[in-house]
Amino acid sequence: PKFQSVGLVIGVTGIVGNSLAEILPLSDTPGGPWKVYGVSRRPRSVSFGSLNEGLAVEHIQCDVSDPDDAFAKLSPLTDVTHVFYVAWVNRIVEAENREVNSAMLRNVLAAVLPNAPNLQHICLQTGRKHYLGSFESIGKVKAHEPPFREDLPRLDCPNFYYDLEDILFEEVAKREGAVTWSIHRPTTIFGFSTCSLMNFVGSLCAYAAICRREGAPLKWPGSRVAWEGFSDASDADLIAEHHIWAAIDPYAKNEPFNCSNGDLFKWKHLWPLLAREFGVEWVGYEGEERRFKLVDAMKEKEGLWEEMVAEHALAPTRLEEVGNWWFVDAVLGVEEVHLDSMNKSKEHGFLGFRNTVSSFISWIDKMRAYRIVP
Ligand code: NAD
Repeated sequence: PKFQSVGLVIGVTGIVGNSLAEILPLSDTPGGPWKVYGVSRRPRSVSFGSLNEGLAVEHIQCDVSDPDDAFAKLSPLTDVTHVFYVAWVNRIVEAENREVNSAMLRNVLAAVLPNAPNLQHICLQTGRKHYLGSFESIGKVKAHEPPFREDLPRLDCPNFYYDLEDILFEEVAKREGAVTWSIHRPTTIFGFSTCSLMNFVGSLCAYAAICRREGAPLKWPGSRVAWEGFSDASDADLIAEHHIWAAIDPYAKNEPFNCSNGDLFKWKHLWPLLAREFGVEWVGYEGEERRFKLVDAMKEKEGLWEEMVAEHALAPTRLEEVGNWWFVDAVLGVEEVHLDSMNKSKEHGFLGFRNTVSSFISWIDKMRAYRIVP
C-alpha cells in the first residue's frame, strides 16, 4: 500500500491537533508514510480559514458528541491504524465535563474500534490536572507533591481525565490485546491554534498587542510564585512527537507518560522577552495588592480588537477566540510550584525535548506569521 500508517486525529484544529496535522504527513515522520484524517466540529473553511490550506490532511467535519454523527462519519474509516485523541470541551462544572467528554470519547471508540480491523494503537491526551485535580477542585483537594510521577495514585476527587482513561481501558480490553494505548499528560501547552480553548502563547500575544496599542506597559497580572518560581511548559510539536513515538514504539505501549519540555524557566525571564517582541515596556510582580485578572482587564476590549484586526489586516478573529483569559489567569496565578518528571519517557526511549525560551519565541513568531496578531 501507498501508506504504512493511517492516523485519525480527533480535534485536528486544536493546539496539539494542529501540530499533529503538520508533522504526521512529513516524509521523515516515524511510522510513515502517513495518511491522515483530521476531525473537528467546524467546517474546514471556518476552522482553518486560509491558514492551513496546504495541509495534507483529509478533513472530516463531525460533532463527536453526537453519537449518530460520530458513527456516520467515522465508522466508514476502515483503514485507520492509529487514533490520536486530542479533543475536549470545557463545561466549567466538572460533573458536566465528565458527562460530555466521556460521551465524546465513547462515541469515537464505538465508531472506530469495531470497524477498523487494522487499528493498532490509541493515544489519549489528558494533562497535569491528573495530579492537581480538576479546575473546580484545585485548592479544595490536596494535590500531589511535585515533581509529579506517572505512578502516583489518583486523587480522591472526580476528574474527567480519570473517566477518559477508564473508558479507554474498558474499550481496548474488548480487542483482547490487539489494540494498545498510551496516555499523554502535558502541562501548559505552547503552540498554535485559533480554535483552542487554552492557547497560552496566543493569549499572551493578544494581551501584549493590546498593551502596545493602548501605549500601556505589559503588566504582570499573576502571583509571586509564578513570577519567581520555576515553571515548565509543553511545546505542541514536542507533544505531537511524543504521541507519534508512543503510537509506533513497542516500548511505549499501555503506559501513561508525562510530556513536558524537559527544562525549567522562570516567568520573570520570559516576560521581558514577550515585551521586547511587541515593543512595549514591562512591569513585573509588584506585590499582592497590585495583582489583577486578565479576565477583568480584557473586558470590553472586543471593539478595540476589531479595530486592530482591520488596521493591520489581520486574519479575522474575535478577541474571545484568541484570548483565553481565564486560562492565563489560572496558570500565572499559581500559589505553588508544579513540575513533573520526564524520567519515565526517557527510560522508555523518548529523548525529545525543547528549549522553552526558543519554543516561546517560535510560537510568538508563528502567531505573527499567520497574521493573528500585529
Ligand atoms: P484544544 O482546545 O486546543 O482543541 C480542541 C479540539 O477538539 C478542537 O479541534 C475542536 O474542534 C475539537 N472538538 C471539541 N469538541 C468537539 C466535538 N464535539 N466534535 C469534534 N471535535 C471537537 O485541545 P487541547 O488543548 O489540545 O486539549 C486536549 C487535552 O489536552 C484536554 O484534555 C486538555 O485539558 C489537555 N491539556 C491542554 C493544555 C493546553 O495548554 N491547551 C494543557 C494541558 C492539558
